[in-house]
Amino acid sequence: MPEGDTSRREIEAEIAIVGGGGVGLAAAVTATENGARVILLEKRKELGGNAAMAEGLFAAESPVQARVHIDARRSHLFRIAMRHSQWKLNPRLVRAFIDKSGETIAWLESKGLSFTCHPYYPNQVPVVWHCYHGGRNKLVKVLVNNCQELGIKVLKETAVKNILTDGAGRVTGVRVSAKGKEQDIAARAVIIGTGGYAGNKEMLKKYCPFYTEDMYCRGLPHMGDGISMATEIGAATEGLGILQKGGPDFVGSRDLGVVAWEPNTVWVNNRGERFIDEAADRKRFESVNALLRQPGRVSYSLFDEGIKKTVMEVGIISGLGLMVLPQTRLPHIDQDLKIEAKKGVAKIARSWEEIAGWIGAEPAVLKATIDEYNAYCDAGCDRVFDKERRYLTPLRTPPYYALKCYPGFLETIGGIKINHRTEVLDKEDNPIPGLYAGGVDTGGWETDTYNVELAGATLGFSVNSGRIAAENAVKYVRANK
Ligand SMILES: Cc1cc2nc3c(=O)[nH]c(=O)nc-3n(C[C@H](O)[C@H](O)[C@H](O)COP(=O)(O)OP(=O)(O)OC[C@H]3O[C@@H](n4cnc5c(N)ncnc54)[C@H](O)[C@@H]3O)c2cc1C
Repeated sequence: MPEGDTSRREIEAEIAIVGGGGVGLAAAVTATENGARVILLEKRKELGGNAAMAEGLFAAESPVQARVHIDARRSHLFRIAMRHSQWKLNPRLVRAFIDKSGETIAWLESKGLSFTCHPYYPNQVPVVWHCYHGGRNKLVKVLVNNCQELGIKVLKETAVKNILTDGAGRVTGVRVSAKGKEQDIAARAVIIGTGGYAGNKEMLKKYCPFYTEDMYCRGLPHMGDGISMATEIGAATEGLGILQKGGPDFVGSRDLGVVAWEPNTVWVNNRGERFIDEAADRKRFESVNALLRQPGRVSYSLFDEGIKKTVMEVGIISGLGLMVLPQTRLPHIDQDLKIEAKKGVAKIARSWEEIAGWIGAEPAVLKATIDEYNAYCDAGCDRVFDKERRYLTPLRTPPYYALKCYPGFLETIGGIKINHRTEVLDKEDNPIPGLYAGGVDTGGWETDTYNVELAGATLGFSVNSGRIAAENAVKYVRANK
């Protein structure tokens, strides 16, 4: 357990915040607004972390929902969250997050952010995904500006290495490394929000049963620093091993990635067999579970010239969050298909036999799959996977197309065990005095399959847990002067 070397301390704050992403920025501003002296420590050159890539966050009973008469009651969403997890989550933590979420939207609005509640999947009820206007990094920009206005001390390119404690196990600060030099920073409380371990292959292999190196990660390669430094001083772990999985993902042109998820395409494994209701991909965090069961964990999205023309001239059905809205026309996919075919991740063919050869399937198997599917389309009833009738479009017009897809993930979730005050717990469930954590470094608030009914829960949890941590850390600091 590293103890602080007081002779090396040059900087002192009441609360040291480790990581300047979703958790850290929300915590820094909230703690400062509550009267604490804060220092924000960020390993990278820029603040924001993965939060700078998000589009929106979960909230219940927010002012935005109230204005447009969306009935998103906290108690209802709490029940949804607990049912989805089969009560495997920490109910008080989930409740604290959901209860705080509406007020957090008001807080963000007061700082100049504006939101639209956007359905994550068609006909979603209630709509909880609060997407901000002004681009993906707008929330980060607003909070970074707020840090400047409030005069918060921010040290970038400063990696926190250890949490320091005294002989009684109370937090006394952090040890950082910047430009090759180590330094201790004294603080009465520390808040951890280092964004998980998506870049740490050793941790991924150790904790995530589904992980293989070919899984494409869309988020930053965070190294699990927060989890390592908390466990080093005796923190218990919870929920380690969760990947926020998604897919099937086409790793190439974005527009073709959107086409690969269209509910009227047909997905086959490398044997040429269908394995899912492709329209279930409207909740794409669930469809990846079906993909992970397939041989080689690879799938191929198949479509024909008819579907391609519809996408180019009429528009797509599903889309990609706010980036590609439903009904958007994708006029350049012809060109993209040629480029990706040259790279070997797409195939354009005059016959299904040719496609079968490319994916390594028996031509007779793929033919049987397509014949069966087309017959279901004619009958208006998918007798195997019960795909909705409106998405049953036969594939009969050559050329035919295939896109190679894999499971992917955005980030890891889970690690440090916290309670509903975001206090870090030791192995006996006692809080480690002065230590708080939030966001994806922590467990107990999300299962291994993202709950899209609580769309935006990952950024939502980060921002809200950061705020909850800040409020409790300030109280702790005041009580332990
Ligand atoms: C492409 C993409 C899109 C997404 N879209 C959404 C969305 O629309 N809605 C949603 O709810 N969620 C979304 N997410 C997830 C969301 O962005 C994350 O859940 C959230 O940002 C996590 O917040 P965090 O503070 O835990 O981690 P981050 O925001 O990643 O911040 C962690 C920070 O800690 C820093 N750090 C790491 N180690 C150290 C160290 N030792 N010392 C100091 N600093 C350190 C990192 O550099 C980073 O800045 C998306 C994620 C990705 C990748």
